[in-house]
Amino acid sequence: MKIQTLVLGDYQVNCYLVSDDEGNAVIIDPGYEPDRILLRIRDLNLKVQAIFLTHGHFDHIGAVKPLYEALHCPIYLNPKDVTLPPYLTQGLLHYTDEYEEGDRISIGKLSFTVLETPGHTRGSVCLLCEDAIFTGDTLFAGSCGRTDLGGSWFDMVHSLNRVVALKEDLRVFPGHGPASSLAIERRENPYVTQRSLT
Ligand SMILES: [Zn+2]
Repeated sequence: MKIQTLVLGDYQVNCYLVSDDEGNAVIIDPGYEPDRILLRIRDLNLKVQAIFLTHGHFDHIGAVKPLYEALHCPIYLNPKDVTLPPYLTQGLLHYTDEYEEGDRISIGKLSFTVLETPGHTRGSVCLLCEDAIFTGDTLFAGSCGRTDLGGSWFDMVHSLNRVVALKEDLRVFPGHGPASSLAIERRENPYVTQRSLT
């Protein structure tokens, strides 16, 4: 598995290009700058099979429409985010497919598992693939996403504790900021409360 990170737009969202050794790829959270994303895809000779959205906030989805027009690949969203108010999505949510807790989606040789992790938004998901987890705005390095933009603090605490309990050695690729690992976050993240989990 290869992971390329592009930091995009005013909100510095992490867009990830995740691919297998044959170049089959998925784009996670294309928030801005579709031309830059397409250029990188062409440079790396990737065959994009899907777009995965960790949630419906505008800073994670802004490039979806032009990318869809260029690539014609399915776009996955958890439908619980369709209730987000328009000012948080900046217009209609564009997606072709729904995913939910426990779904497994194959991209070439890679298999992604969907975990519903409400808190930042009702429909927020984390995406688990091999030794990596893409956490959107649920888990950040040393922090977590806001819960005042269509989410719930109660749900966030539950989701964070669930994610860090998954597996000690997973690499963490958040929606903003630097990468981390579950081992570090379990030890050092002040928002993770269930320290006794091993
Ligand atoms: Zn967000």
